This record gives sequence, C-alpha cells and structure tokens, in this order.
Amino acid sequence: KPMEGRISDIGPRHFGEFLPPVIAKNFGKWDYHEILEPGVLCHTALSGDKAYTVRCGSARLMTVTHVREICDIADKYAGGHLRFTTRNNIEFIVEDKQAALDLKAFLNNQKFPGGSMKFPVGGTGAGVTNIVHTQGWIHCHTPATDASGTVKATMDVVFDDFQNMKLPAPVRISMACCLNMCGAVHCSDIAILGIHRKPPLIDHEYLDNLCEIPLAVASCPTGAVRPSKVELNGKTYKTVAIKEERCMFCGNCYTMCPSLPLSDGEGDGIAIMVGGKISNRVTKPAFSKVVVPYIPNEPPRWPTMTKVIKKILDTYAADANKYERLGDWANRIGWERFFEKCELEFTAHLIDDFRDPAYYTWRQTTQFKW
Ligand code: SF4
Ligand code: SF4
Repeated sequence: KPMEGRISDIGPRHFGEFLPPVIAKNFGKWDYHEILEPGVLCHTALSGDKAYTVRCGSARLMTVTHVREICDIADKYAGGHLRFTTRNNIEFIVEDKQAALDLKAFLNNQKFPGGSMKFPVGGTGAGVTNIVHTQGWIHCHTPATDASGTVKATMDVVFDDFQNMKLPAPVRISMACCLNMCGAVHCSDIAILGIHRKPPLIDHEYLDNLCEIPLAVASCPTGAVRPSKVELNGKTYKTVAIKEERCMFCGNCYTMCPSLPLSDGEGDGIAIMVGGKISNRVTKPAFSKVVVPYIPNEPPRWPTMTKVIKKILDTYAADANKYERLGDWANRIGWERFFEKCELEFTAHLIDDFRDPAYYTWRQTTQFKW
C-alpha cells in the first residue's frame, strides 16, 4: 500500500496518489513487458491486465506553457496521468492498445510553428533514447560548456535512431557540463563532458570580504588550495593561493567561494567518453573512458562534437553484433581498433595517471598497446 505510514504534510505528495488506476491496481505484480513498436511499450500484469505506454522526447528545460500543453494531452488521452523518465522522456499510460497507437499518431503530428516535431515518439529498445543532461551556461555556475545547446545539436544528428530501433543494442547518451557531473557520463554508452583546462583566477579583494577561507581550502579534493596573504595597493588581504600543478580544474572551490572563477573562453570545451553502462542481468557495470580529450566550444551547433558522435554511432551500428553494447563491442574488437575504425586520434592526453587507476585510465592492462 503506497500510502501506508505517510504522516507528514510537508514536501511533495506521495507518488502513490498519482498512479494510473491500472498501475495502482497491479502495483508490484507485473509479469513481463514488450516493445510493440518504437515508442510503444506493453506491460502485462500477473492478473492479465495490460498497460500501454507511449514514450516521446522532451526538451527537459521547458516553459510553463509547454508543461500545460503536455498536461492537456494527458487529461485528454491518458486519464490525467503522465510521467517523466530519468532520461527526460515523457510517458503517457493508457489501458487500450488502439488508444496507444492513436496517441502515438497524434503526438507525432504535433508540430512547432517552424514545422519541427513537438512530441516525437520513440526512445525505446535498440535505439537512442532522450539524452540525460545537466544545467548548462544559463542555470549553473561552473559549466565548461552548454547543456541545452549541445544536447539539441546531438539529438538532431541522431534523431533517426531515436525514432527507430535498428541499432545493435540500446545507446544511452548523456551530457554533463562540468566534471562535477550531474549527468550520467560515467556510465553511458556515449558521453559529452564539459571540461575546464585552466585553474581558477583569484579575486583577492572579494575573497577576503566574501568567502570562508577554511571552506575554500577544504573544498579542494587535491589539496591545491591553501591560506595566504597578499599585499595590494598598500592593503593586506587574507586570501588563498592555488598550487596550479595540483589543480584538476574541477571547480569545487568556486562552488564554495565565488571569488575563484574558472570559466575561460579558450580553456573550456568538451571531452567525449564512451563505453559506460549500468549493470544488467549478464554483465557488471562499466565506466566510460575518455576517447577525445578536447573539442572546443562551437555554439550554437557544435559541428566538431556532433561529427565525432555521429561517426562513433555509425561505426558501432555497422560493426557490432546484435545485443552488443557500445563498450562491449570496443572491448571485443580492442580499443586500438575502436580508435582506428572511428577515425579518432589516440594522444598522450588520453593516458591519465590520476589517483584511481580503475577510473578513466587506459593503463590497466599490458594488453593495451599504446
Ligand atoms: Fe553545474 Fe557541473 Fe552540474 Fe553542469 S555538471 S549543472 S556545471 S555542477
Ligand atoms: Fe582544487 Fe578543483 Fe579548485 Fe583546482 S578547481 S583548486 S582542483 S577545487
């Protein structure tokens, strides 16, 4: 009983209040599910009841007007119920197969004034689903690249694989605009990661007046920040010094102390990582590895980045066995072959000797040739 033991009246209401009737009735008693066609799932309960889900893409960051439009569709077609998946897909759940197919047709016909699709149906099975992503230049303080722009440009070049299920296996693409990584870049098949490449600047005057020095020192995971004093214009400021050779440009200190900004038009850009996934019934989870250390920011369409992603995706689609995830394919053919086939350069920047050798590094085995 989802409502049992709920005694608080603060915070969000319990999700159990919002379940579609067929989900509430069969809660915890589902037998199996199947994908009927791209974007349409059917879950069958032990009771024989069926729930049909229609999944479509969303922009994730959306206006109130757009949210109202989605709610109106849910009211009209899905008994007032809708849900968002962790990868920002919108799902409508209905109890009748024909209603699901009608809803798919309706959603695919909804267009923006320019003619592009408003609620494209897809994102299931052996295809690309919506991209999980972070906040970007507008909504966070430490981004090294934008989120909405890079995601829109990427989705545009992989859109065919969002609407169809013709890849060897699911491909999860994620995006995080700094290595604090609010996205799932460590465990996605293809990941876009914003990286800074320069240490923070120090605004001594502001720092003295604004920041807790012990907090700024404690925030640094590599111990690069230490207390210091600086003479400026005949005045002594209590401030910090940064040991630049220890800095890994993570931005943690800036999160604690706004007098240590590290955004930089030339230094900031994107790294591409591949081969991560969460565990499944057969294999353990895998971390993504860096395969392109740096691509400059090229708003608004990031052409170099999208070309690299499309090449990796197309090479994988043509070369992998059925059911083989992108990282499994690279492991099977060898990462050296992966770089050759995807026409990526293996550079010294990819060999990372950071503290944890199981993470992001290529020096894990004598079988690795470079
Ligand atoms: Fe902010 Fe970094 Fe998270 Fe992006 S990934 S939203 S920059 S903390
Ligand atoms: Fe330390 Fe990260 Fe700040 Fe560099 S950016 S000084 S590593 S907290």
